[in-house]
Order: sequence, then C-alpha cells, then structure tokens
Amino acid sequence: MFEKVLIANRGEIAVRVIRACRELGIRTLAVYSEADANSMHVQLADQAICIGSGASADSYLKIDRIISAAEVGDVEAIHPGYGFLAENAHFAEICENCNIKFIGPRSATIKMMGDKTVAKDTARKAGCPIVPGSDGPVGSEQDALKLAKKIGYPVLVKAVAGGGGRGMRIAHNDVSLVKGYHTARTEAERAFANPAVYIEKYVETPRHIEIQILGDQKGRIVHLFERDCSLQRRHQKVLEETPSPALDEDLRKRISKAAIKVAESVEYSSAGTIEFLLDPKGNFYFIEMNTRIQVEHPVTEEAVGLDLVKEQIRIAAGEPLSFEQRDIRLLRHAIECRINAEDAYNGFRPSPGTISFYYPPGGHGIRVDSHCYGGYTIPSHYDSMIAKVIAYGHDRRTTIARMHRALSEFRIEGVKTTIPLQRAILQDPEFQRGRYNTAFIENLLNREQREAAEPEV
Ligand code: ADP
Repeated sequence: MFEKVLIANRGEIAVRVIRACRELGIRTLAVYSEADANSMHVQLADQAICIGSGASADSYLKIDRIISAAEVGDVEAIHPGYGFLAENAHFAEICENCNIKFIGPRSATIKMMGDKTVAKDTARKAGCPIVPGSDGPVGSEQDALKLAKKIGYPVLVKAVAGGGGRGMRIAHNDVSLVKGYHTARTEAERAFANPAVYIEKYVETPRHIEIQILGDQKGRIVHLFERDCSLQRRHQKVLEETPSPALDEDLRKRISKAAIKVAESVEYSSAGTIEFLLDPKGNFYFIEMNTRIQVEHPVTEEAVGLDLVKEQIRIAAGEPLSFEQRDIRLLRHAIECRINAEDAYNGFRPSPGTISFYYPPGGHGIRVDSHCYGGYTIPSHYDSMIAKVIAYGHDRRTTIARMHRALSEFRIEGVKTTIPLQRAILQDPEFQRGRYNTAFIENLLNREQREAAEPEV
C-alpha cells in the first residue's frame, strides 16, 4: 500500500479522499490555491502546498506545479478526484512517466474514452446499443444537414470532448441545426479547447441510467448496479438514486451486462461509470463512459455497503478486488441531493459569499459530504457545491421521508441554496411514484412559475 498520496483537487472530494486515505493509514498531501487557504481539505491533510492563485488555470490545472509538489512532498501516488485533471490523459501520462501512480485507469484508456465518438464506437464493437448518429466528428454544416435528414429530427449536436452538459444543442429543423452546429462548436472550443462536434438522435423524455464499474489490475471487473440520474437541470445532475424505480430485474441485468462488456473491451481498471439513456419503451443506449470517481458515488456506496474511494486506492496499489460479482448486493435504497450555492428560483444565479451559520443534518441513515463550515467563504472561482446529502433506508419511501426530514434540518445562512428546489422535488407526487425523466425539473420549475404568476381567486 502507498505511504503518501497527493490529492490534486479541492472541496468536498478532496476531503472525501483524505478520509479514505486516513482510514487506510496513508499520509496525505493537499495542494491548494490562494483562494482556498482556509479550505477544509488544507486543514485536514497532513501537509499542504500552495500551487498558485485562485483561477483554476493558475493552480488546480497547472500540471507542472502539481508534479513539483508531488516530488517535493515525496508521494507515491496522486488522486485526481473529479473535474480538473481527473480525465486529462496527458496528466495521467506524465504521472506514469514520473513513476507516480495515477489513481485511475491507464492514460491510454482515458484518452480513448475521453473522445466520445471513439467511446461510442468502442461500445458498439463490444455489442452495446448506441444512439444512432454520426460515425465520428461532423466536418461541416452540409454534413450535419445530410445526417439529420437520414436520422430524422430532433437531433442533438454534442461536443466530442464534452462534459458537464456543455457544448450541446438540440435541433428540431434545418435552421436550428445550422445555428446549433456553430454555437456548440464555439462553446466546445472555449470549454475544451477542441471545437469538434458530432450528431446523434435526440432521445425524447429519456431516463439517465448509469452503471458503476470497478476493475482491478488483474483483469477482474465487477459492476455495482445502477444509479438513476434523470433529475437534471441543463444536462447537469441534481438528485440521484439507487436502485432506479424504472428498472426491473431483467432490465437491470441486461444494462449491467452491457456495461461490463464495454469495460472488458478496454480492460478497464479503477472505478468508472458507463452512462446510458433509457427510452420510454425500455430500450437503452450507451452515451459515454466516465473514467473517474463521480460526484454521485456515495449513492452506490450506501446502497451496496462498499467504500469506492478506498477500493480505487487499493486497485491502484496493485491489490486484487477482494470480492466477486455475486458478493455485491443492493442492500438499501439511497438518494443524494446536491446542495449548491445558487438561487434556484432566480435562474440558478450563483450565490457565492460567506456562510454565516452552518448546521448540517444527521441522525439515522443520513450522510453529509462537505467541506463547508460556519464562517467559510465560498470562492467564486470554482463550482458552487456546498454539500451532498445522502439518505439511505430499507426502501424508497423511507429514504424519501428521511431526506425530507434531513433537508428541513439543514441550516445554511448567508448564501442562497438549492435546498428549496430539492424539497419541492421530494414532495412531488410523480417523483414519489418514481415516474420522472430528464425533463422533470424543467417542467416542475415552469409549473411553479406559472402558479406564482396566476392571481389568487
Ligand atoms: P456530458 O458529458 O456533458 O455530461 P452526456 O453525454 O453525459 O454529456 O449527456 C448529459 C445529459 O444530456 C444526459 O444525461 C441526457 O440528459 C442528455 N443527453 C445526452 N445525449 C442525449 C440524447 N442523444 N438524447 C437525449 N438526451 C441526451
């Protein structure tokens, strides 16, 4: 096992990784920006090194400074968390060349699955259904129009290097396709320094179902069932749950099997996620693979009773998985609510600032993953997540009631949060029946807006 690990991240995920390391008896080195000097991960780590100013490009994305910190701190491995450099194949390759273990898959796997068109092709060759669309990047407006005619509107223009829902445009006709093609390219160039886009059929009212995978370096791959991440705003996840109310045993088996085939075809090692869209008729299609730990990983941890970050670290250290597929069971229901410093009822306007009072919920079946505390100032440079609240229980009904109870206890003063939106979701009768898809939140917000505008009689 490693003796010392550098965590190339910040916020709740840096805290999460430090906790796993501590339980494994590993010393930790935090890196931080000047804006994060008072951050919890800096306080919890055994050692901390400042790597630059607040902007991510000057700190958390500066590969040379992170590698220098690793050398100065004499670490054996780097955990990248999610976001920042977690899916940067170049960074993973530099770690490999410097003999520092990158806690994740091989750089070649990251590179392959990071290009969404290559990933789709890989999935197709592994026998997994994919959304119909272009074979690779679309080179021109004319090619886009030709393809849309073939597959039929509506279509979705997506960035080859995409992530976080950016660089995506829906088109219902030729005019919106030409416009969407150019805006998606511009957005992709800005966000990923790669303007390439591809086109696929827009699946209407789908659910987003993803399968958690773990693979060791000896070639054993297991799945840890699904997460339903259909509750999204602008293609970004808001609430996730396991098991999905939309899957029966047969469908669960078929999706998991397809995910395993994809992971096996790239000899995947580490934690990873295979994402699918499920249409209302029960057809599922691969959309992408995430070659890192995901924000919503605690939902799986609480449902199956395993620590995914510790498993990731053990795998990177060369240990074989200590369990087999048949040992993994869905023991409980689990739901995660992401709490962001945003005003959900004012266009989700970011609400950075100082948290003047902070009291997280607790009690039976509640877990809170957060880096925040009373007096903490949320920097404006990074994402606005304050906390992830995870509720778990023996069934879905109990878990929803528990989450509702927890959110009613959560006190965060000084900034606006998305707690009111989360509570509205939990109280919605259709959500409670398990009937929702990726359009649910937008519909909920539109409905609430309409009701607010109607004069009282
Ligand atoms: P990103 O990597 O930016 O997160 P994904 O490919 O994972 O992009 O897609 C994010 C979300 O966008 C999906 O969960 C889904 O809601 C929506 N989406 C993506 N592809 C399609 C599609 N072909 N049809 C309908 N919705 C889609």
